[in-house]
Amino acid sequence: MAYQTVDPYTNKLVKTYPAATDADLEDALAQGHRVYTDWRRQAPAARGPILHKVAQLLREKKHDYAAIMTRDMGKLIGEAEAEVELCATIADYFADHGEAFMAPQPLTSSHGKAYYIRQATGVLVAVEPWNFPFYQVMRVFAPNFMVGNPMILKHASNTPGSAAAFEDMVREAGAPEGAFKNLFLSYDQVSQAIADPRVSGVALTGSERGGASVAQEAGKQLKKSSMELGGTDVFIALEDADWDAVYQAAPNARLRNVGQVCTSSKRFIIPASHYDEFVAQLAAAFKTYQPGDPMDPATTLAPMNSERAKEKVQSQIDEAIAHGAHVAYGNQPIDLPGAFIQPTILTDIDKQNPLFSQEIFGPVAEVFKVTNDDEAIALANDSRYGLGSVVYSQDPAHADAIARRIETGMTTINAPFITSPELPFGGVKNSGYGREMDEIGFATFTNEHMILNT
Ligand code: NDP
Repeated sequence: MAYQTVDPYTNKLVKTYPAATDADLEDALAQGHRVYTDWRRQAPAARGPILHKVAQLLREKKHDYAAIMTRDMGKLIGEAEAEVELCATIADYFADHGEAFMAPQPLTSSHGKAYYIRQATGVLVAVEPWNFPFYQVMRVFAPNFMVGNPMILKHASNTPGSAAAFEDMVREAGAPEGAFKNLFLSYDQVSQAIADPRVSGVALTGSERGGASVAQEAGKQLKKSSMELGGTDVFIALEDADWDAVYQAAPNARLRNVGQVCTSSKRFIIPASHYDEFVAQLAAAFKTYQPGDPMDPATTLAPMNSERAKEKVQSQIDEAIAHGAHVAYGNQPIDLPGAFIQPTILTDIDKQNPLFSQEIFGPVAEVFKVTNDDEAIALANDSRYGLGSVVYSQDPAHADAIARRIETGMTTINAPFITSPELPFGGVKNSGYGREMDEIGFATFTNEHMILNT
C-alpha cells in the first residue's frame, strides 16, 4: 500500500512518500546493530539526557507536531496537542526511571550469591497504527531507548508525515544514527526484518488481522512479540454511581478521537432504573458535537481518519440496524466533504446481532440495560476482547469487587480510561498479549540475565 497523507477533512492528497528499498532496510539493520553493540558497553543513564531532550522538543514544538498528525489523520488539533504533551511525559518518565529499571536485582539462593540484570536484546521492529501517530510509537520507543534496543518503525500507511517527523525529532535530540529509523516498509519487508538475526522482537499495535499475521512471523522465527489489539471496552455504571459524574464522563469516553480508540468505552452497561435517563443524557450531549475543520479549535467533531474507515463504520451501523438494533440518536449524514460520521447511539443489540461481537472503531455508542451486577459482569465478559473497562460506583469496595471480575487487562474506576507512563497498558483474549509502559512494559524486550556466583 502506498504511503500517503490524504487530508481526511478535504479528502485531498497532500503528499506521497517513497517506499523503502531492500537496501534501505539492510542499512537500517546494520546501523541499528552497530548502535546496539555500542550501547551494550554504555550505562543506560548516558541515554537519559537525549530522551529528556526529546521531551523538551515535544513541548517546544507541540503545535507543529500536532498539526502534522491532524493533517495525516484528521484528529482535533487540541487532542493532537494533548497527545504531544503525553508523549513528553512518557519520554521524561523513562529517562528518569530507566536506570533504576536496569539495576541489578538480588536473588535469594542457597547456591551462592545470585542476581539478575536486565540487558538489551537487539534491534526491535515496531508496527504502529494511525490513531495516535506519536503516542503509539513513544510507548515502545522511550523504554527501549533506555534499555538499549534500537528501533525500526513501520508506521501506518496513512500517517507517513507523523512517522517522518518523529524520526527527525529523535535525530534532532542527538540520538545516534540507527537508534531510531522510520522506514516505509511493505508487509513482506516487515517479515524480512523480523526474520533477520539482528532483530530480537516485534511490537505491534493494530487490528487482530494485522496482529495475527505479524505474531505468526515472529513465532516462525522464535522471536518475542507483544500485541496491543482491539477492544470492546465496557463502561459499567452501578446503581450507586454518582450519576452526574456518569453523564459528564460518558460522551467523551466514547467520542474522543471520534471513537477511534482501542480503549474507548464502546458498550455502556446501565441499570434499568437509570437506562432511559442515561440514553436521553447521552443523546443530548452527542447533539452538541460540532463537525468542522479539525485544525479549527472550535470544532468538536473531527472527521474519521479516512473514507475507508468511514465506510466500514457506516456498514457496521447499517448491518446492526438490519439485525434489529434501534437508533436512539444519530446516523444522519453530515453535509461536509470530509469522512464524517454523526455520533450515534444504538440500543436493543441482542446476541444474534453481528455488532454484538464486533469492535466498532468510530463514534457509535452501544447501550445495554441490565437488572443486577451479575448480569452486568456476564455481559461485560461476553466478548472475545479484553482490553480496558470503566466502572462507576461511589462505594470503593463495590467498585473494586466489580473491577476484579471483569476479564480485561485494565480497569479505571470513576473516570474515563486513563493512560499514563507508570500504568501498565495491555489486554487479554483477542485484545493481545504483553504490556507496554511502566516497569512491566519496560522489561518486555529485555534479557533478564541471571548471574550466580557459587
Ligand atoms: P491494522 O492492523 O490494519 O494496521 C496497524 C498497523 O499494522 C499498520 O502499520 C499496518 O500497516 C500494519 N499491518 C497490518 N497488517 C500487517 C502485516 N500483515 N504485516 C505488517 N504490517 C501490517 O489496523 P487498522 O489500521 O485497522 O487500525 C485499527 C485497529 O487497531 C483497530 O482494530 C483497533 O482496535 C486497533 N488498535 C489497537 C490499539 C491498542 O493499543 N490495543 C490502539 C489503536 C488501535 P498499513 O497501514 O500499511 O496497512
